[in-house]
Amino acid sequence: MRITPHSPVELGVVVVAAGSGERLGAGVPKAFVTLRGRTLIEHAIRTVTRLSEAGQLVLVVPADHAAEALELTARYELPEHWTVSIAHGGRERHESVRFGLEALHDSIGTVLVHDAARPLTPTSVFERVIEHVRRSGDSIIPVQPLVDTVKRVDADGVVLDTLPRDELVAVQTPQGFPRETLTTAHTAAHAAPASGADVPTDDAELVQRAGGLVRTIEGSPYAHKLTVPADLRMLEALFDGTVS
Ligand code: C5P
Repeated sequence: MRITPHSPVELGVVVVAAGSGERLGAGVPKAFVTLRGRTLIEHAIRTVTRLSEAGQLVLVVPADHAAEALELTARYELPEHWTVSIAHGGRERHESVRFGLEALHDSIGTVLVHDAARPLTPTSVFERVIEHVRRSGDSIIPVQPLVDTVKRVDADGVVLDTLPRDELVAVQTPQGFPRETLTTAHTAAHAAPASGADVPTDDAELVQRAGGLVRTIEGSPYAHKLTVPADLRMLEALFDGTVS
């Protein structure tokens, strides 16, 4: 779906929702799982379009679920200042992001990339990421301190060593970038594809590989990612306010 906005917008948000969600085992792609009456796609639309600034939201979904995504979007009462586009996903997350970037309007200069799998990420985190990208001109990622001790193990699960926890953070989304920085990084990665453990799992890594500077800001416990069934219970509790 492409709706031409009334005036050129500067902000683009790519929500990647094309993963299969195998570890969740819900029988539908993860972004189509329901959390308290709304699919993760609808949670993403709601959060992003609450931003007071005008923008374009690109939902990247599995090709065979594009019609369903379009239907969910059409049913949603979008505020006037947001437009929504649907793009088809790729085999890996970074490919889905690249396809999403290709759907952005020319006017867009600031891009956020967000996992649909983090349905309760507060709008305020989006706002802070945008503000820091614009102020610094660098790439910005929200992070949380690690609470568990982290160890490196070998293929048999035998501990090799313990990593210094105070130097480690858990990385969340939305990650924010000047558009040029992100598209250049994706173009470079596409030209020299990685494989196996070298496949990047977030956009900041691509930017770093291309020589860019990535800064961190404080994320949110509400940006918890849905991966396994227990995460769904946890997200329901967060949504209900029974944990905070
Ligand atoms: O699989 P994982 O939870 O790490 O995926 C993170 C996000 O990337 C999810 O929102 C998922 O839908 C998305 N993704 C995608 N295309 C892929 C793989 C993952 O859009 N091929």
